[in-house]
Amino acid sequence: MFKKILIANRGEIALRIQRACREMGIKSVVVYSEADREAKYVKLADEAVCIGPAASAQSYLNMPAIISTAEVTDSEAIHPGYGFLSENADFAERVERSGFVFIGPTPDAIRTMGDKVAAKQAMIKSGVPCVPGSEGALTDDPKDIIRIARQIGYPVIIKAAGGGGGRGMRVVHTEAALIHAVQTTRAEAGAAFSNPAVYMEKYLENPRHIEIQVMADAFRNAVWLGERDCSMQRRHQKIIEEAPAPGIPRRVIERIGDRCAAACKKMGYRGAGTFEFLYENGEFYFIEMNTRVQVEHPVTELVTGIDIVQLQIRVAAGEKLPFAQRAVEMRGHAIECRINAEHPYTYVPSPGRISLWHAPGGPGVRVDSHAYTNYLVPPNYDSMIGKIIVHGDTREQALARMRIALSETVVEGIQTNIPLHRELLVDSSFMAGGTSIHYLDGWMARRKQHA
Ligand code: ADP
Repeated sequence: MFKKILIANRGEIALRIQRACREMGIKSVVVYSEADREAKYVKLADEAVCIGPAASAQSYLNMPAIISTAEVTDSEAIHPGYGFLSENADFAERVERSGFVFIGPTPDAIRTMGDKVAAKQAMIKSGVPCVPGSEGALTDDPKDIIRIARQIGYPVIIKAAGGGGGRGMRVVHTEAALIHAVQTTRAEAGAAFSNPAVYMEKYLENPRHIEIQVMADAFRNAVWLGERDCSMQRRHQKIIEEAPAPGIPRRVIERIGDRCAAACKKMGYRGAGTFEFLYENGEFYFIEMNTRVQVEHPVTELVTGIDIVQLQIRVAAGEKLPFAQRAVEMRGHAIECRINAEHPYTYVPSPGRISLWHAPGGPGVRVDSHAYTNYLVPPNYDSMIGKIIVHGDTREQALARMRIALSETVVEGIQTNIPLHRELLVDSSFMAGGTSIHYLDGWMARRKQHA
């Protein structure tokens, strides 16, 4: 096993990885930007190295700075967390070329899955069902584009091959709007992801977002660790996740889960990964694969009892998966609420000093957060400041525990989305389970009308 790991990330996930290392007896090095000097995990770290100013490009995305820090601290492996360089194939390659272990899949696997067009093609080959759409990227020929849209049927969605984080997507309802939408998405994709390739999919009107967690070792052993329902989204970004997905028969989930594990074996995939699907009328449609640990991994940890981050480290160190598929069991129900420093209803970011932070507790409650009283939320990064995760024997118990946890939580000095979570946790449709990815948008529009 590794003696020392460098954590190339910040915020709650840096703390999460640090905790996993501690439990495994591994020393950890955190790199941080000038804006994160005060962070809790920096103070708790075995070693901490400032790698640059607040701007991510000069710190958390600064590959030479991160790799040379690994060198001077004698780290053996680098854990990239999520976001930042976690899905950057060039980074993974440079890490390995410099003689360190990248805690994640091979650069090739990252590269394929990072291009959503290539990812869909790989899935079709591996027998994973996809959203109907263009075969490959769209050409520049308007006639072609119009023909493909007619074949698929409106509405369609134009998506950037290199897109991520809910950005680089545009829904088109009529032929009149089609060409302009393709051009705009292409231009934005070129600017934002340095990849102007776009593709087209059927826009599903009422789907749920259901994803399958997989874990594979370097010996073509792969398992799936149940599913998560991440349908509660704002601007295509998840805010509440749960496991298992309410109301979907186990045999239906098992069929798709087994396909995902089989696809991993076929591709020779290594490490943690997530197959994301839209689920509508009993059918699964693959949209993308994330080749890293997800924000919402704790709900899976709570229902399976498996520590996903530790397992990532083990398989990266060359260990075999320590259990087989039949040993994976889902017990009870888990729900996660992402706590964002933002206005609860307009989503406008609200960085600043937290004058009071009181985290909830009690049976079945887990808080993953780097925040504390007097912590300054920097304006430079993602607005998520933590996650509250609860576990119960049943979904009802998990819902009750989350309501209590949210009622105990106090964050003063900045705005957070906790009031929104409190309202959603008593919303009759959410309580019934199985709302679609568009539910929150509609809910918000109705709320504004009544206000
Ligand atoms: P990203 O990498 O930016 O997260 P995804 O492809 O995972 O992009 O899509 C993010 C979200 O966008 C999905 O969870 C869903 O809400 C919406 N979405 C993507 N594709 C479609 C589609 N074909 N039909 C309807 N909604 C979609």
